[in-house]
Amino acid sequence: MVYLKTDQEIDLIKESAQVLGKAHAEVAKWVKPGVTTRQLDKVAEEFIRDNAGIPSFKGYNKFPASLCISVNETVVHGIPSGYELRDGDIVSIDCGVKLNGYHSDSAYTYPVGEISAEVMQLLVRTKQALYLGIEKAVDGFRIGDVGFAIQSYVEEQGYSVVRELVGHGVGKNLHESPEVPNYGKKGKGTKLKEGMVIAIEPMINLGHKAVVQERDGWTIRTSDRKPSAHFEHTVAVRRGKAEILTTFEYIEQVTANTSLMVNA
Ligand code: MG
Ligand code: MG
Repeated sequence: MVYLKTDQEIDLIKESAQVLGKAHAEVAKWVKPGVTTRQLDKVAEEFIRDNAGIPSFKGYNKFPASLCISVNETVVHGIPSGYELRDGDIVSIDCGVKLNGYHSDSAYTYPVGEISAEVMQLLVRTKQALYLGIEKAVDGFRIGDVGFAIQSYVEEQGYSVVRELVGHGVGKNLHESPEVPNYGKKGKGTKLKEGMVIAIEPMINLGHKAVVQERDGWTIRTSDRKPSAHFEHTVAVRRGKAEILTTFEYIEQVTANTSLMVNA
């Protein structure tokens, strides 16, 4: 069942997304060698609660934290821990906020200190792929058009698309129908309609597409242990042009002219 949202509901999701975008920015201020991923999680949770929000992830299927923090070969769903970020890591921060009864969901991958040019390109192109997918989140296109736009672009660069994890509808529930794969065929899948709100979230591997789940029951990593990047926005399907409800604006105020910047 796909729930179409009214403009009023979309405004509530945008309010939730403002807190989310600012929470991401607070976290970005702390992304540097030596910080533990648990410290980052604490920054996010405090900010979200101080702003009347609820961390969407905490307690979701018993997930223990407010952020999914996924370093290097971890694709998604990394659990914050005592791990200290190191120069040369990449770290994906995925966060969700519930405010006024509505969720918003977004993710951003940062370089930590100096990273290789090859991995920097992976980040830039994964972010670019997100925007290519968003261009297809328009009334009249289909879910397959979004996936095709992402997949064809990243495969051209020699990267691969994770199959096991996908984007999703967002609303009163963090995960709603439809599923939004980052691969697909033009003109196939559910038809996109004005008022659908979906999270588009390419998870792109430098090497092979295969992933495995760690024994903690959450962490997903690449099977070849090569790095993986993840960028995500929550968007509303509109006529003519998608409306991006989440924002990287606050993140990018923090990262501008620093080594954290990902230019796409
Ligand atoms: Mg997310
Ligand atoms: Mg998501």
